[in-house]
Amino acid sequence: MSELHKFIFDGLPVRGALVRLTDTWQELLQRRSASGQGSGYPQPVVHMLGQMTAAATLLRSSIKFDGSLILQVAGDGPVPVAVAEVDAQLRLRAMATLSAPIEEDTTLVQLVNAAGRGRCAITLDPRGLGPGRKAWQGVVPLADASGQPLTSVAQMITGYMRQSEQLETALVLAADTRAACGLMVQRMPGQQGSDADAHTRLGTLAQSLGAQELLELDAATILRRLFWDEPLQLLDIARPAFHCTCDRQRVAAMLQGLGEAEVMAILREQERVEVNCEFCGAQQRFDAVDVAALFSAGQPQVASPAAIQ
Ligand SMILES: [Zn+2]
Repeated sequence: MSELHKFIFDGLPVRGALVRLTDTWQELLQRRSASGQGSGYPQPVVHMLGQMTAAATLLRSSIKFDGSLILQVAGDGPVPVAVAEVDAQLRLRAMATLSAPIEEDTTLVQLVNAAGRGRCAITLDPRGLGPGRKAWQGVVPLADASGQPLTSVAQMITGYMRQSEQLETALVLAADTRAACGLMVQRMPGQQGSDADAHTRLGTLAQSLGAQELLELDAATILRRLFWDEPLQLLDIARPAFHCTCDRQRVAAMLQGLGEAEVMAILREQERVEVNCEFCGAQQRFDAVDVAALFSAGQPQVASPAAIQ
């Protein structure tokens, strides 16, 4: 079962979290395979998207905020978009779009930053929390201060946290088709501890964790092996789960945004309009009657499948 363990170090200005997404991550990949979009993601994309999903879950768990955290990479290579979204209850979804075939040995730089124009954005989205709430977004390039391209998702996130949040973060991420995992150790914002070197020492310990260990060992074993000589104190355990926020209303609004002429053209060609959610594979169908209702005068009425029955 997927789990996220939060921990602190007694008397030290450092906090941490360890996430293991297992069933959640497998469901996410299976939905992709089952949605008719090929046989799923190629290995390099599984690695990148899994690490992004683990990182987004860690970051979401570390901030006090009611909405969703969205980690997005806008790439200039064969993966134009990769997104991981985690809400306040640690319900998550993720997807990547592919614009060209991807070889097994493709690197992260080749995937999303081939021409040096890739960007990483983190958005705090208060959507659904009432009117007047604005999303906050920070964007950084996928290169370090000297212009060298970043070669791992962990480097992207730690670079982002340093530039945008002034938070020193140590991060280890790993993903395959069975699990997406991450370990984060972070200096606590605004706190001066008695042990000035604590963050550096604990960060170095965290970074000594290998990708295979992170993927294969349980949380208790990992934390004991790394921090056996440190005053680690486990806090709560949370259970991240897959959840998609797509619904018929949102697809209807998208079709209305497309315009009547465009939607009628699709309808003439295909008899019905079908839209697949790229996150969960759910399909929304609109036949001629549904489309007519969408563009009828007055307030658009969108019947949900449950309401039709
Ligand atoms: Zn969906």
